[in-house]
Amino acid sequence: PECRPLDLNQAIEHSLELLRHTIPQKVGLNLALSANLRPVEADRSQIGQVILSLANNAFQAMPKGGELKIETQNISHDNNSRACPTCGLNLNGDWVVLKVHDTGRGIAQKDLPRIFDPFFTTKGLGKGSGLGLSMSLGIVRNHGGHLFCETNLGKGSCFMVYLPARELVS
Ligand code: ADP
Ligand code: MG
Repeated sequence: PECRPLDLNQAIEHSLELLRHTIPQKVGLNLALSANLRPVEADRSQIGQVILSLANNAFQAMPKGGELKIETQNISHDNNSRACPTCGLNLNGDWVVLKVHDTGRGIAQKDLPRIFDPFFTTKGLGKGSGLGLSMSLGIVRNHGGHLFCETNLGKGSCFMVYLPARELVS
């Protein structure tokens, strides 16, 4: 990746410009961007791909409409208080976190271990490539980050992207 200091909120606003025309009518958009978000060190276009991929999955999970909420936060964990559900490593440290929430169909427990596998899709022949999440996971990991999902069948899902907060240089 070609990493530069990046304001994740700006990257989100930019991705939303691209998405604006494809947001289904019955989907509401709720932006909850932290006003004092720390910068990350990231490749703008790769992170943009991750945002678009997660947002498109959210839309597709809400065929009857719902709400897409995009949230950013500074989050710190210590004392091994939180582990990444995808890789199992602890999330100690200072992170800039993107959360993409939908109020869609949710993900079945039996599918959950496979959603990041390349070519895994439940969208049917010719509809889903099954590459969005595996590519997103690869990008996030290349940035030293984590990607995982919390989901509630029939209620919705939240995909969380943890990126290392950029060290403050004095
Ligand atoms: P694709 O979108 O082409 O199917 P992805 O890698 O983006 O491939 O996603 C893999 C699978 O994970 C999807 O087919 C779907 O079953 C599940 N999935 C991903 N995001 C969501 C979501 N927001 N809500 C429900 N299921 C999801
Ligand atoms: Mg997808």
